[in-house]
Amino acid sequence: MRVLLVEDDEMIGQSLRPALAAQGWSVDWVKDGQLAQSALADGDYACVLLDLGLPGIDGVEVLRSARARGDTTPVLVLTARDGLDDRVAGLDLGADDYLLKPYELRELLARMRAVIRRRDGSAHSVIGTLAVQLDLTTREVLVQGERAQLSAREFSLLHALLERPGAILSREQLENRIYGWGEEVSSNAVDVLIHGMRRKLGTDAIRNVRGLGWRVTGGGDARSTAP
Ligand code: CA
Repeated sequence: MRVLLVEDDEMIGQSLRPALAAQGWSVDWVKDGQLAQSALADGDYACVLLDLGLPGIDGVEVLRSARARGDTTPVLVLTARDGLDDRVAGLDLGADDYLLKPYELRELLARMRAVIRRRDGSAHSVIGTLAVQLDLTTREVLVQGERAQLSAREFSLLHALLERPGAILSREQLENRIYGWGEEVSSNAVDVLIHGMRRKLGTDAIRNVRGLGWRVTGGGDARSTAP
């Protein structure tokens, strides 16, 4: 899954990026409000980590303009302890949650999962279909009740498909969800991932809809074709 990190503090960014990457996140890091706005307009992020005190356009304005555009990406505000007015303004403008600096990585990860779950419309950490379930807290994948081991990218791809079971996601949509900037993405990367996942999840778990993309269905569907 991709996360947009908006943080002008080099020390925080330099430590947070690898820590998030180690948890399977693709991290795009920007250091000012202008770049945050263009990243948000282009990218497909599972979540945004937003510092409020930024050079140029500040974080409150980034949030205000994103929500004004109808962007509903979950936003977790990371803010200093003394910034009560900013926090209140942020929540009023549509931030999903906030975390005071300095914070523990474990709490940050838990809050990221929580804001993403809420956006998915689920109070539970388990999403999926009857056949395939994903636990966003433990990162466990169950296929027909049996545990499957997925890589971080496979997990991201399955998460994207299971957010709206039955919806078709194109190759570009899946690439946007899985890969960050500057990551080398070969033209058949998604096919390779899905091929590997079918070996773990069963050939019917992810259906190819010719010319359109892929989807997960609870049962069979006459219109889909599994090559
Ligand atoms: Ca700052």
